[in-house]
Amino acid sequence: MAKMVAKFGRRFEGKVAIATASTKGISFATAERLGLEGASVVISSRKKENVDEAVEKLENKGIEVLGVVCHVQNAQQRKDLVQKTVEKYGKIDVVVSNAAVNPSVEPLLKTPESILDKIWEINVKATVLLLQEAAPYLQKGSSVLLISSVVAFQPWGAMAMYGVTKTALLGLTKALAAEMAIDTRVNCVAPGLVPTHFAAYITKDEAVRKTAEEKTLLKRLGTPEEMAAATAFLASDDACYITGENLLVTGNPL
Ligand code: NAP
Repeated sequence: MAKMVAKFGRRFEGKVAIATASTKGISFATAERLGLEGASVVISSRKKENVDEAVEKLENKGIEVLGVVCHVQNAQQRKDLVQKTVEKYGKIDVVVSNAAVNPSVEPLLKTPESILDKIWEINVKATVLLLQEAAPYLQKGSSVLLISSVVAFQPWGAMAMYGVTKTALLGLTKALAAEMAIDTRVNCVAPGLVPTHFAAYITKDEAVRKTAEEKTLLKRLGTPEEMAAATAFLASDDACYITGENLLVTGNPL
């Protein structure tokens, strides 16, 4: 652990960071990175067993961590996430809004209304509602990070509606940045393909995975830690003159 801290520096010493959907994958890696750099991190997701397991992993690395069950579509649980953070740490410096679902591979014109509502509510609306809860506690110099996707730029096929919600996040980033300036910066990271549970339906097929790797200039898929590094940069004071921006972290697929 001491080695990792030395490698990463301590840009988040004294800061408090909340991350949604952060018990696995990209957001877990982000919470870990912020924690290793000195932040007190508040992690959350729907299932208590996932929250408990993630808390234990982070504590084992010497990170100050609070775990809260929060399905981002649930108003009371969003409130709890913010209130429990403030009760324990007294303030909020960083919010990483990461939760997303892609429950349908149907063409847009065949997707049931209930599914359209769910994708929109979790992928877009919940971010606004969570920030409404968090806003009174956000400090001067605070930072909000939204997690979009490379498919935001080409939202079609099996990821059409999901992709459109990720396109919406690019605009939401700019709208929130304007509204939350001067005290809070708002930026967005758009990952390329990262072999997590979420992307397993694509990456588990060896041939599809190989093709995706070959398409990138760097000839490989990204890792959760690489997405976390970009997110941590934008959340840190190293990015103090950057707001309203969308950063692609993709290895540049052709
Ligand atoms: P992941 O590894 O599958 O992790 C998903 C996490 O989200 C888990 O901790 C899960 O825990 C939690 N979760 C799921 N639904 C939730 C909800 N409604 N409310 C709260 N927590 C919820 O996923 P990932 O690949 O890291 O994806 C993270 C983000 O990156 C998403 O926004 C995704 O769109 C974006 N992204 C991913 C890729 C990729 O290739 N992986 C590419 C571009 C963008 P519980 O089951 O306990 O809730």
